[in-house]
Amino acid sequence: MTDKKGPTILYIEDDRASRLLVHRVLASRGYAVHVASNGLDGIELARETTPALILTDINLPDMDGREITTRLRGIPSFQNTPIVALTANISPGSRELALAAGCNGFLTKPIDVATFPKAVKDFLEGREERLTPDERSEHLQKHAQNLVERLETNIRELETANKRLRELDRLKSDFIIMVSHELRTPLTLISGYSHLLEEQINLASGGIISVDTVGGIASGLNGGISRMREVITEIISVSRISSGTLDLSLGPVRLSQILNSIKNDLEPVCHKRGLQLHVSDVDEMPLIEADGNQLRLALENVLGNAIKFTPDGGSVMVMGKKLNNAVDIIIQDTGIGIPMSEHRRIFEQFYVLGAIEHHSSSKSAFQGGGLGLGLAITKGIIEAHNGRIWVESKRRDPESLPGSTFHILLPIAQSSERLTLDNDYIDDTPVE
Ligand code: ADP
Repeated sequence: MTDKKGPTILYIEDDRASRLLVHRVLASRGYAVHVASNGLDGIELARETTPALILTDINLPDMDGREITTRLRGIPSFQNTPIVALTANISPGSRELALAAGCNGFLTKPIDVATFPKAVKDFLEGREERLTPDERSEHLQKHAQNLVERLETNIRELETANKRLRELDRLKSDFIIMVSHELRTPLTLISGYSHLLEEQINLASGGIISVDTVGGIASGLNGGISRMREVITEIISVSRISSGTLDLSLGPVRLSQILNSIKNDLEPVCHKRGLQLHVSDVDEMPLIEADGNQLRLALENVLGNAIKFTPDGGSVMVMGKKLNNAVDIIIQDTGIGIPMSEHRRIFEQFYVLGAIEHHSSSKSAFQGGGLGLGLAITKGIIEAHNGRIWVESKRRDPESLPGSTFHILLPIAQSSERLTLDNDYIDDTPVE
């Protein structure tokens, strides 16, 4: 928004309505007006346009108006430029602080359209509001203190962000190691079977290879290929969820059908590991509006984990509960549990609790392999359905086995609203 006319005025203000009004009033008086909506942009625009006067709001999202003024006063070309605070903040001491920081004047918002142009003209012509030496020294000290406090807060925030980025970097490195491992294991299997096939062909030297031999080799090859496909699908799913391109194909879904079908698939593993898998109270659950395939993937992940993190001989219970406008699917295990401090982080991408070298590469063995993506995918799917997922567990202890209980809350019908329930145990505060 620039009008090339009389003296140039820069106005730094985050509120759009104030920006428009001041712009209109000043432009109609022949000034060339530039506007910026935050402090950093304002300073940059000031350097580019060297305005004859700068008006600045005090409360801004990044730097405040006093900080902007102090910064500009440090630049030789702005040492004598009139800078005027234009603010709704009329708390005691606010004017004195602005003047101590280097402002020439202090005007209040909302502006009085009748008197504002005259006030601006006066400041352009050299008007200056002054503090007594005592007032100036007192408020200068307070201003310096405020600056240091802000700096301290910013340093702390940066340190936290930096720590989080380093942690994410480490998780990504672990992830690359795990993906390589997870892909290499089935690849070794595939390579073994294909060599075997070659060997059998050479041995038969033009004769016949038995159907059993070929069948065995083909099923070995297929096993390896499906595992590789699973790993690649997981990576694609999580990237779709991260980029918000997960498309749901909604229709009526019978949860009992999905849960019983997953139970059937997991039965052989449970049998082998002496685990009890019970599915109860799911038949009374109503039909819900959802994407059946995506929900199946989400539920498979949670049930698969319950089995993976429960030692042989334990049990996993799946229950369904109908609430007012939602269903609650409860998946409870008698496994190693999850420390309270990790209840949120397990739903983050790449997060694998415990040392990755403890992971066995079999997906169904106790503490079996995983990429740390399963729950991130699950959460993405549930939230795409406007649902919620959370875990309850007292601690992680492979000796006393406190177990974990996952809740998956899904709305019966889809709307644009995320599910809200009178539910004390859902805490929405973000992860530190
Ligand atoms: P992965 O695919 O590696 O299993 P997930 O995202 O599914 O990754 O889970 C993240 C981490 O959460 C797991 O590595 C595990 O430590 C923990 N976890 C998930 N479910 C359970 C459970 N039922 N009991 C104990 N720990 C669990």
